[in-house]
Amino acid sequence: MPPNERPLDWIEEELSSLDLQGLLRRRLTHQGPAGALLDVGGKTYVNFGSNDYLGLAADPRVLAAARICLEEQGWGSAASPLLAGRGAAHEELEAALAAFEGTEAAIVFPTGFAANLATVSAVVSRGDAVYADELNHASLIDGCRLSRADVHVYPHCDWRRLEEIMASTRHARRRLIVTDALFSMDGDFAPLVELAGLAERHRAMLMVDEAHATGVFGASGRGVAEYLGVAQRVDIRVGTLSKALGGMGGFVCGRRSLIDWLVNRARAYIFSTAPLPSACAAAHAALRIVRNEPDRRQRVLALAVDLRAKLVAQGWDVGRSESQIIPLLIGEPQQAVALAKQLFAQGLYVPAIRPPSVPAGQSRLRISLSAAHDTDMLERLVAALGQFAHAPAIE
Ligand code: PMP
Repeated sequence: MPPNERPLDWIEEELSSLDLQGLLRRRLTHQGPAGALLDVGGKTYVNFGSNDYLGLAADPRVLAAARICLEEQGWGSAASPLLAGRGAAHEELEAALAAFEGTEAAIVFPTGFAANLATVSAVVSRGDAVYADELNHASLIDGCRLSRADVHVYPHCDWRRLEEIMASTRHARRRLIVTDALFSMDGDFAPLVELAGLAERHRAMLMVDEAHATGVFGASGRGVAEYLGVAQRVDIRVGTLSKALGGMGGFVCGRRSLIDWLVNRARAYIFSTAPLPSACAAAHAALRIVRNEPDRRQRVLALAVDLRAKLVAQGWDVGRSESQIIPLLIGEPQQAVALAKQLFAQGLYVPAIRPPSVPAGQSRLRISLSAAHDTDMLERLVAALGQFAHAPAIE
C-alpha cells in the first residue's frame, strides 16, 4: 500500500467504478407511508416499487392491532425467543399462520431473509446436496453457501436438467430442492408440480419460498403452491410478513418436527432477538384481512393482466411475467436508470433493477402492482411508457 493511502481507500475507488458503470445504488427517502403514493421531497409520486401488494401496510385495522399490542406488551422483545423473547403475540401469530397455511406448525423469524438463510443451513450440511434454481433469491443462495452442502445450481425452471443432475448425485446423504415460488425479478412461477414429482421420485426434501406469493396467489392466499395444487407436497414452505402482509418478518411452516428442529438449529432464530410483539399482532390482523377479503388479491391480479396486455401492445418485453410483478426488460444499466429517471420526472416511481440483482445485460424496470393502485394511476404509467415504447435505447 502506498504510504499516504489509508486502508479503506479502495472503497472509494470501487464506488467510483460502480458509478461509471451505472451500477451505484442510491437510496430514496420518502415521507409518510410507502403506499400507492409516495411523498418525496414534498412531491407526490405513484409508487410502483413497493411489495405492499394488498395495500395493508397502512390499513387502519392493522395499525390498530399494532397499537393495542404496543400498549399491552411493550415495544421491544428484549431477548431471543429461546430466552425471554417469545411472548403471547408470537405464539398467537404462529398458531394463526399454521392454521392459515394448513400445516401442523409455523415459526416466525425477524425477517424473510433470516428465515431462508437459517432454514436452508439447518436442514442440509456437509455431505448433503442442495439443488437450487439459478434465479433464487439472495437469502436462499446465501443459505446454500452457509450450509456447506454441495450446491447444484440448475438453469432457471429447467426441471428436466435438474432431474439429470439429481440422477448423477444419488450418493448424497440428504437432498434438498430449493426454489422461489414466484421469482422476484421476473414475476414468473417455479414449475412446482414437476419439482414436487422430482422430490418424491428422488426422496428429496422440497423447500419453496413464497415471499412474493403469500396473500396473492391461491384460493385462500397461501401462494403459488396452493394455486398449482401442490401445497401439501411441499415439505418446507417459507413466507414473508413483509410484502402482501404489509409488515416485517418471515415464517416457515410445515410439520411440527420441522419447526421443532428449526427452534433447535436455525441460528438466525436462536441467536437473534425475537420480532417486535406489535409486528406480530399487526401481521395477525393482516392475515385475517387476507382470509376475509379475497377481492384484494383478485383485484391486484386483474390489474396485472390488464397492464401486461397494454405494455405488450406498446411493444415492451415483459419477459415471463405471470403475476403482479412485471419487468420491462431493457438491457444495459444506464438505459434502465435513464428510463426510470424520465418516469420519475413525470411523477411515477418505477425502480431500475441492475446487476447484481439481475444478470449482466438484463437490467430492467420492475413494476410492482398493489390492490391499492387505481386505474388512473395505471393509465398514467401506460401513457408515460407509451412515449418510450419503441425507443428503449434512451440516452
Ligand atoms: N425471498 C424473496 C424471494 C424476496 O424477494 C425477499 C425480499 N426481497 C426475501 C425472501 C426476504 O424477505 P424480507 O424482506 O422479509 O427479509
